Amino acid sequence: MRICTNGSVSAKASSPACDTRESRRGDAGGCASDRSTPLTWFRDMVPHCLEYARTAKEQGHPIVCIMCEFTPRELIMAAGAVPVCMCGGSAETIPAAERDLPANLCPLIKSTYGYHVLRTNPFLEMADLVVAETTCDGKKKMYELMAQSRPMYVLELPHNPDSIEALGFWEQQIRRFKRELERRFEVCITDDLLRKAIAVMNRERRLRRALAAAMEADGPPLTGRQLADLRSCISGIACDLRQYEQVLQWLGPRRENGLTDRVRVLLTGVPIAHGAERVLDIVEGCGGLVVSMENCTGIKPILDDVDEHAADPLAALAQKYFHIPCAVMSRNDRRVEALRRLVGRYRPQCVIDLVWQACLTYDVESARIRRLAEEEFGLPYLQIETDYSPSDSARIGMRIEALFETARARAGGSTTEFSRRGDNLACGGPSPRQSVYDGGGT
Ligand code: SF4
Ligand code: SF4
Repeated sequence: MRICTNGSVSAKASSPACDTRESRRGDAGGCASDRSTPLTWFRDMVPHCLEYARTAKEQGHPIVCIMCEFTPRELIMAAGAVPVCMCGGSAETIPAAERDLPANLCPLIKSTYGYHVLRTNPFLEMADLVVAETTCDGKKKMYELMAQSRPMYVLELPHNPDSIEALGFWEQQIRRFKRELERRFEVCITDDLLRKAIAVMNRERRLRRALAAAMEADGPPLTGRQLADLRSCISGIACDLRQYEQVLQWLGPRRENGLTDRVRVLLTGVPIAHGAERVLDIVEGCGGLVVSMENCTGIKPILDDVDEHAADPLAALAQKYFHIPCAVMSRNDRRVEALRRLVGRYRPQCVIDLVWQACLTYDVESARIRRLAEEEFGLPYLQIETDYSPSDSARIGMRIEALFETARARAGGSTTEFSRRGDNLACGGPSPRQSVYDGGGT
């Protein structure tokens, strides 16, 4: 293991994996993406990420698979490694998972575990480390099984987001994780490297927030599905960031010239892994427009940035990540605060709360979200509990159509009423902890 001193940069960590694809191509002007539009670029997101990860691995950069937004990608990047989201979105791997796991378990967990059993997730197969976290019970126990045959590190997440002691414990977990990455990958994670990684991730968060802000318009220029597709399972890839910038340029003159005849939907609840967008597609296929997706694949993890200039970057990381408003936290008041702001900004006409089957934390929290939507926002609310099987698609479609009938009837066919209501919420609603998001995105 190398001796680590502040300011000394280890050779491995000083070659950020983020630039490997560009450097291999020797294309100073950018990437192969220059030949495609951003939407087609992200349609091929998985092959691009695979090429990126393979190249990085060939060049000696470790691959680290993660499954939760509480895991600070910045630390992994500062260690010269590549953080890859390994969340499974396929129903096809679930039968294999059910050989070990109960059928009555969240499909996201089963799908991910199924890839592990079948060895069909190429990122996981090249992973030097899997980072787990103590969030929900299903994931914790699944990780124990996975750890029998894969190198794994577990971040212990305390669950009271308002406790100073819990934050202190989490900060110690972050410091311990840094030491483990240094030991395992024989690198030094200096404050300088960490700040660079934080700056990259902040840039990505800013760009994604700016893209999300396009949906504030009365006639958004994108569908919710198109916006959801603008993401990558590897964060911080320079080509992806340039693609985000291109989309923003493209959106510039089109911000108010889009879809005005849809029912505006705020989609909250569980994360929607790549490949598991069925409910999102049904919502939009029924005449809805998901103007805001308050979940871990949408705006939730990018609401706040990490302080790039903090004297102690590890403490800054701990502070940001500990306050992600996930339902595993108790109390999870920050989710309510986030929803208030999102309703103010995006003026939805209804709230749809997606819960994966057997996800107890989000399922139980639904009662609070329903009351918030119906009583405080005055919006019709629908909880959809489902899994990755398409067998209930028709039934879900019928329930969404009924919800939209109610939303249209309340709006009298106009979005103006909602715009006014949104303004009131934005101005007169409770004003909790300031978020970077309050500053207007970028
Ligand atoms: S919903 Fe919670 S447990 Fe799931 S990825 Fe997000 S932060 Fe992690
Ligand atoms: S959706 Fe719920 S049950 Fe599934 S991994 Fe996330 S928190 Fe756990």
